[in-house]
Amino acid sequence: MTDRYAVIGNPIGHSKSPLIHAQFARQCAQDLTYSALECTAAEFANTVRSFRDSGARGLNVTAPFKLQAFELADRHSERASLTGASNALKFEAGHIHAENFDGVGLVNDIQRNLGGSIAGRRVLLLGAGGAARGALGSILEQRPSEVTIANRSVSKAVELAAQFAKRGTVHGVGYANIGEQAFDVIINATSASVDDKQPLAPRSVFTSTSLAYEMAYGRGLTPFLRWAKEAGVTQLADGIGMLIEQAAEAFLWWRGVRPDTAPLIRSLTIPLV
Ligand code: NDP
Repeated sequence: MTDRYAVIGNPIGHSKSPLIHAQFARQCAQDLTYSALECTAAEFANTVRSFRDSGARGLNVTAPFKLQAFELADRHSERASLTGASNALKFEAGHIHAENFDGVGLVNDIQRNLGGSIAGRRVLLLGAGGAARGALGSILEQRPSEVTIANRSVSKAVELAAQFAKRGTVHGVGYANIGEQAFDVIINATSASVDDKQPLAPRSVFTSTSLAYEMAYGRGLTPFLRWAKEAGVTQLADGIGMLIEQAAEAFLWWRGVRPDTAPLIRSLTIPLV
């Protein structure tokens, strides 16, 4: 019987996950289907359980259900436990297993696809929401010299930094307190671009050799990327590679085979102009 998977979120019409997983399945000769499920928060648990009970094998989870997915699962990986959120579920032997591949997706995109490095580098993480929380553990695993988290609501940045303090040198600040320091890697993990806005960090965070990484994708040159470019940054990237890399990790977890991400990244990347 053909194995079934899906992505669940709300809204879900925009999701590229069905296309990505269909291509991975073709490439790896895996017999599976992958659809999209939309539901309300109140319907989430029942929708997941009935998908599982119908014989399906797993789910990707996107906004706004990553916290609910974590809570619904009865087996949690260390990565999922660290973030309290899950972007991938696996149904196996009567259990719902929770994983979170957002951070490893980001790190793999930066290091494998973009040729950047995090080890020994100064990283500025803008935002302290779900995406920043999901990324922080994986960033710290690479042993950067330090990570500064800057957020509009300062207390969230401070709390997030405190939660990860044992894993590396990390501090949380407000945008006004970043000061005149420059960073090697600046990651926009805010949702400001969705409203055509940019986080209000000082321009001095950039140097000509910095990497400016926008987690949002499919929006071309966002305000954040435009601002970085105007500051002289030449290495600009959006989050399409992160999306595809986290999908590849989920595919590996479910199917035991890792797809080659390069062809999809080439075909889905929008020029940043
Ligand atoms: P959340 O809603 O959890 O967090 C939003 C964050 O953005 C908060 O830190 C919030 O600050 C900040 N923010 C919102 N508007 C502004 C603004 N105008 N100026 C400054 N800060 C602002 O969202 P997520 O963390 O889930 O998502 C963040 C981004 O990451 C989105 O663009 C999303 O599409 C992207 N993403 C990409 C993925 C990928 O695979 N490429 C995966 C996951 C997310 P405050 O706390 O002060 O409100």
